[in-house]
Amino acid sequence: MQKNVKFLDFLKSLKFRLIILVIAMAVIPGNVIRAGILNSYESRALSIRQSEVLTQAQIISNQIAVSEYMTGGSGQSETIRTRMNMLTTIYDGRVMIVDKAFRIIYDTYNLDYHKTIISEEVLKSLKGEQIVKYDSENLYIEMAIPIVDPSDDDGEVQGVLLISVSTDNIALNYDYLQKIAIILEIVVGFTAVFVGILCAIKLVKPFHRMSEEIKEIQTGYGNDSLEINDYSETAEICGRINDMRSQMKVMDESRQEFVSNVSHELKTPLTSMKVLADSINSMPDAPKELYQEFMEDITNEIERETKIINDLLSLVKMDKSAADLNISTVNLNELIEQILKRLQPIADRQKVELVLESFRPVTAEIDDVKMTLAITNLVENGIKYNRTDGEGWVHVTLNADHQYFYIKVEDSGIGIPEDCLDQIYERFYRVDKSHSREIGGTGLGLAITRNCILMHRGAIKAHSVLGEGTTFDVRVPLNYIA
Ligand code: ADP
Repeated sequence: MQKNVKFLDFLKSLKFRLIILVIAMAVIPGNVIRAGILNSYESRALSIRQSEVLTQAQIISNQIAVSEYMTGGSGQSETIRTRMNMLTTIYDGRVMIVDKAFRIIYDTYNLDYHKTIISEEVLKSLKGEQIVKYDSENLYIEMAIPIVDPSDDDGEVQGVLLISVSTDNIALNYDYLQKIAIILEIVVGFTAVFVGILCAIKLVKPFHRMSEEIKEIQTGYGNDSLEINDYSETAEICGRINDMRSQMKVMDESRQEFVSNVSHELKTPLTSMKVLADSINSMPDAPKELYQEFMEDITNEIERETKIINDLLSLVKMDKSAADLNISTVNLNELIEQILKRLQPIADRQKVELVLESFRPVTAEIDDVKMTLAITNLVENGIKYNRTDGEGWVHVTLNADHQYFYIKVEDSGIGIPEDCLDQIYERFYRVDKSHSREIGGTGLGLAITRNCILMHRGAIKAHSVLGEGTTFDVRVPLNYIA
């Protein structure tokens, strides 16, 4: 089983693919070249053989025609026969002369003298057609040449010269060349396997080194940064891994900071409660009013602790993926009216005027619970960080175009210093820690708001003038983008 897995792993490896590539690059062209060269050798050798024999045949045919050989009266008979015998010997063939009555009047094999031969080739040739045929199965070339006097344009066909020559030696040469080519191919194949293995080992080495170094980094023994510059690809991958590691470091630091902030925030009310409880315990004879006052303080601290825990839970929910949104079509005018109604008592207590201005009816696909939390935080902050002389106001504006809805929360409050604007969305960040604590802030409200807006694929921006007021602009798509 283990062996099978290892073998499958090897088949999937880059090393294996490189070996196959090198072998294929050596063997495939070798095969193509072998087939190409051998085939062109064969066809060229055959065509040379055909044209040589044809030339000889035509010379003999002409000699026969002009020499009255067919009628038996030629003085050149001997020369013609010698030529025919020579052709037979050189090309390992047979020559026959057939007259108009289909009788064989000469045969270099001396086998079929005076026999009659009626074949398609003889018939056609007697009509003046010259026939050349290659029989690839039996390896010979056949020719039927009409015997006609070349000097006489209307000369009649006196007979037919039948020639067959063997192409055995061409086939033998072909086989011999093929054998040599196969041997060479086997040698090249083995060399390719060897070279392929060497190349694969060498080329894949940097990747193995990279894997080793990553392992070392994981166990804490590695270098600070990964650097394998053998190829631009490995350098690029190492760069990406180094970037990822720095990002992870930053994330880890921010997680640690968050945990320490949470611990600190949760400990503060507990410490206050402990101090209050210890004080009461150390005063057994304290008056009832003092007890009541201390108990009230302890209740306030418990409320504060509860608020921090609730905010943390909301934040954790907002930290999850956008898939956790419960999207429905919501009437935003009504939603904001409800929020302002709920916050009205707090605004009245702070003597802050709450105004809603809706430019048009707006419906959008949103998670109403999360969006309510986000808008509530913005309006609540507008009330909390406002002036206390009874002149304060918070204006909420709702508008939309064909793509987005826009909510603007504007206040006449204390404002936020320019250099703090980028940090106000960080968890537990407060511009003035003691003031925020005094008015019940946890430093988590804007982090929750921003996460919610981002989950809806929206954007949030803050502008502020210290001592004059702050404006939060929110923009969210009307149709939810998954
Ligand atoms: P908190 O619970 O302290 O209000 P937030 O995350 O809601 O926490 O806000 C972070 C900080 O940003 C606040 O402590 C406050 O200093 C500042 N802030 C937020 N909103 C306003 C505002 N409308 N006007 C002035 N300061 C604001």
